[in-house]
Amino acid sequence: MALIVHKYGGTSMGSTERIRQVAKRVAKWARAGHQMVVVPSAMSGETNRLLGLAKEVSPEKATAQTMRELDMIAATGEQVSVGLLSLALQAEGLPAVSYSGWQVPIKTDSAYTKARIASIDDARVRAELAAGKVVIITGFQGIDGDGHITTLGRGGSDTSAVAVAAAMKAAECLIYTDVDGVYTTDPRIVPEARRLATVSFEEMLEMASLGSKVLQIRSVEFAGKYRVPLRVLSSFTPWDNPIAEESVSGTLITFEEGLNMEQAVVSGIAFNRDEAKVTLMRVPDKPGIAYQILGAVAEANIDVDVIVQNVSHDGKTDFSFTVHRNDYARTMDLLKTQVAPPLGAGEVIGDPKICKVSIVGIGMRSHAGVAAKMFRTLSEEGINIQMITTSEIKTSVVIDEKYMELAVRALHRAFDLEAPQAV
Ligand code: ASP
Ligand code: MG
Repeated sequence: MALIVHKYGGTSMGSTERIRQVAKRVAKWARAGHQMVVVPSAMSGETNRLLGLAKEVSPEKATAQTMRELDMIAATGEQVSVGLLSLALQAEGLPAVSYSGWQVPIKTDSAYTKARIASIDDARVRAELAAGKVVIITGFQGIDGDGHITTLGRGGSDTSAVAVAAAMKAAECLIYTDVDGVYTTDPRIVPEARRLATVSFEEMLEMASLGSKVLQIRSVEFAGKYRVPLRVLSSFTPWDNPIAEESVSGTLITFEEGLNMEQAVVSGIAFNRDEAKVTLMRVPDKPGIAYQILGAVAEANIDVDVIVQNVSHDGKTDFSFTVHRNDYARTMDLLKTQVAPPLGAGEVIGDPKICKVSIVGIGMRSHAGVAAKMFRTLSEEGINIQMITTSEIKTSVVIDEKYMELAVRALHRAFDLEAPQAV
């Protein structure tokens, strides 16, 4: 008998019929003797609907005060889910009880709409488990030090589930979703994309930060910090599949370094269309320019991703970086009005039609020439690379958005990601 955490995403909870299926699956695990804690998301589309209502009433940009209310509103989606799932379990003849974040409590900081979990008191949950109940806890929400309801950012139920699993030292956290695992790349772009039986925690972290939407990045960080055994699998398989079969399906996030050293050098291709590029032309090349440019950008709360400073000519250099597309107009305006004039820089030019394509793999640590192969593949397709950035286990390039699919397909082929995974 083990303590197991299940997390069900919005599509898995998408209708009362789906919720009944979830209840049957959970009941199967409970009847096999496991202590079950379940963390569901809101029903699919519900969080968007709730935030849409808020926008109708208050169309202006959110402020600290309005954000508190956004969390109050958005958190209700999960409250409905836990109640329904608890009822469905009871209808299955299984004792179950639902809790919202504040009742557990799951304590967070006060950063409304993107709060971080500070601590989880599991006494109440443990008592319910000891009394033989399935405990269902809302994903996505918590309570801050002053008793205000907070939410953890979109996709935050993953983080709730992993945090609960970490706090309760669960044997495993199973993330049930609408795909059957983590793929080498998005199968909608490359139909030959392959499910990975295992992926290392570090690779998963890179993939999540580079645009793979399978898991919220904070949930992966949590899993890494507390070594929570994590598996991503489908809730769309028959609910009565044997547990032994479910337990080896999907994708397991592994922590053992070197376990898969013999597998492909590159494990996955990620891409992200959410960025835009800005360039400050002919900036005087002297100490402090990066600070003067990026300091002003940071001050405006704009996150910068890829940065390139060119070799200087006649004491002047071009300085480019990428920001989130939502921040593009604001960044352009800031550079034009506040950064370029005092620096004596030239024109400010921008391009929102870019995308970032990345190859990820822990094998890159021990293999030379991986990045070169990436660049060669792109050049053979006639794709111009605008920017490059690397870390130990990834190489990213910024290219014209219109070549994104071509680039992803070519790289997927070049790195043999279609071949069966070596074991
Ligand atoms: N319901 C929230 C959202 O849609 C949290 C989640 O589903 O993980 O973002
Ligand atoms: Mg999700």
